[in-house]
Amino acid sequence: MELLDGKLCSEQIRREIKEEVDTIKTSGKRPPHLAAILVGDDGASQNYVSMKVKDCEEVGFGSTLIQFDANVSEEELLNKIAELNADNTIDGFIVQLPLPDHIDDNKVILAIDPKKDVDGFCPENIGKLCLGLPTFVSATPNGIMELLRRYQIKTEGKHCVVLGRSNIVGTPIAILMSRNNDTGNATVTIAHSRTKNLKEICRSADILIVAIGKTKFVTADMVKEGAVVIDVGQTRVPDKSRESGFRNVGDVDFDTVKDKCSFITYVTGGVGPMTRASLLQNTLIANQRR
Ligand code: NAP
Repeated sequence: MELLDGKLCSEQIRREIKEEVDTIKTSGKRPPHLAAILVGDDGASQNYVSMKVKDCEEVGFGSTLIQFDANVSEEELLNKIAELNADNTIDGFIVQLPLPDHIDDNKVILAIDPKKDVDGFCPENIGKLCLGLPTFVSATPNGIMELLRRYQIKTEGKHCVVLGRSNIVGTPIAILMSRNNDTGNATVTIAHSRTKNLKEICRSADILIVAIGKTKFVTADMVKEGAVVIDVGQTRVPDKSRESGFRNVGDVDFDTVKDKCSFITYVTGGVGPMTRASLLQNTLIANQRR
């Protein structure tokens, strides 16, 4: 078994990005600038956004954090998005999800200029993804593809089972894995909460990508000998031994599954850091396109 080390890969990607930023600065141009909107005081969201801002600083990007109380009106949030769309000093921005119930996520996503949608959530960018056109591929699926590429894992002709069909992970990764190109060409099955014979389907996977948000759901009896297993899951569970009071747990029961795999990611050094690096890559692309 070999670990798919997302932490190591993401450090390499950050170094590559930093070199690009140094070149941009040397040539007298403005470095990439990412803005992030955070609504409310959800601990996990605050944590994700502060890590994204820190990542920007590390690679030499500019960053702007915009915070609203949980009771901000939808109109006020949409006004801020319009402002960011028009701001020429900002290359891309994200609105950290989930949003409070009184705000319509779809309205917010639709308001973002697709050219600045570095999360790749807008219909235009998802449409381009489906058509195989250049676009912002959302950060988590992009990070998974990058990890497979950097470990030279062959996907052609392989059976890939994607467990979970969310718009931000399961569905786009299934599209990318089935795409007719060097990093795709897998035969893809999407499984979800209504899937029958889930264990058998998972066991038939050469590549198993799990994004359901159910801790340690995938156990050794669901994994084929020699499979590649990618664990996207990241659920906070209380842990008094940690200063933070919690730890993140994946959807795969790593300890029992690892010995059956050829390659496996671990939480939190797998998909998480690759997601963060992908957001930086998308912001760099947004800057270069402007
Ligand atoms: P989501 O929107 O919550 O959707 C979960 C999906 O899992 C749904 O398609 C659901 O099926 C399916 N599902 C739930 N229970 C299931 C079960 N018992 N059997 C089979 N399928 C089941 O998921 P998400 O936003 O993609 O997030 C999934 C996990 O990934 C979460 O832990 C999240 O924190 C994590 N995540 C991590 C990163 C990262 O950077 N590491 C990024 C994004 C998400 P139905 O459609 O039938 O309801």
